[in-house]
Amino acid sequence: MSSFPTTPEATPGAASATPDATRRTVLITGTSSGIGLAAAIAAARAGWRTIATLRDIGRAGALREAAAEAGVDIDIRQLDVIDERSVAAAVDGVIADHGRLDAVVNNAGAGHVGTLELETVADVREVMEVNFFGVLNVSKAALPHLRATGGRLITVTSVGGVVGQPFNEAYCAAKFAVEGYMESLAPVAGAVGVSVSVVEPGAVATEFVNNIGLDVEGRIAAAGPYADAMRRYVDRTVGQFLDGAQTPAGAAEAVMEALTEERPAFRIQTSRWARDFTGTKLADGDGSAVLGMTTGWVS
Ligand code: NAP
Repeated sequence: MSSFPTTPEATPGAASATPDATRRTVLITGTSSGIGLAAAIAAARAGWRTIATLRDIGRAGALREAAAEAGVDIDIRQLDVIDERSVAAAVDGVIADHGRLDAVVNNAGAGHVGTLELETVADVREVMEVNFFGVLNVSKAALPHLRATGGRLITVTSVGGVVGQPFNEAYCAAKFAVEGYMESLAPVAGAVGVSVSVVEPGAVATEFVNNIGLDVEGRIAAAGPYADAMRRYVDRTVGQFLDGAQTPAGAAEAVMEALTEERPAFRIQTSRWARDFTGTKLADGDGSAVLGMTTGWVS
């Protein structure tokens, strides 16, 4: 794995003419709110040239305000992770304007609540589209440029990328897919000088749950034989967010660790809770510890 300076100065001789061309550059997806917004501010504060991307530039208000408040410059660009043309345009634009790309943070993602009998396979495909194929679209476009800089590919997954959780089947499947893909890619990318990490948040107080757009009572009413289990799941989840959600800035610290540690771990949890929770799975050879725990959430 390549070593990486903890400050954003360039490697001697790595880039050209203007001083600006030597400044390390990071592109972050999904920066309209939450962890992506906080990571963009943290990276800019740490001196990175920060390309903060959004699928809808019209939603950049909170990001612009946060940047002004922090006194940092951020380069805001359009990028919809499920639109390959938009991804190519954003990455090509960064290279044309700045000449280098040192890191990508695949942060964009969307939650989903459901279970197989209550949703269509097309619903599941949609969840995979944004949370899995979207990550691949951006990573594929970025990799040649990350190879050129000995850069970093960082993806915000979830504790749900390690522990399967009730009524999150499609979301966890997508995040498991990302984790499996990145774990497999890591040694391959490492062979060409690119470091790969995943960042695993637990509950973080962002727009994530609201953005699911869930009519909770309507869903429970329509859940038939799953209604009682779904009610227990919803009550537990709401309690978890009310009691112990991490701040977006706290979660962004783990992104910064992946970005700046000389030799970042492959898997970085954003909190002690997330470390303990994923640890249950990682030490659970036969699956009984995790199923014992999650069965208790809905019964
Ligand atoms: P958030 O505030 O809802 O942010 C999600 C971001 O992703 C938004 O900026 C959203 O943009 C963007 N996005 C959605 N679809 C996109 C697309 N097709 N192209 C580009 N951007 C898109 O939630 P968050 O909590 O910060 O989520 C960030 C990451 O953390 C996600 O990958 C999520 O799965 C993960 N995570 C969150 C939690 C949590 O509890 N909050 C826990 C574990 C993992 P719009 O504004 O346009 O919708």
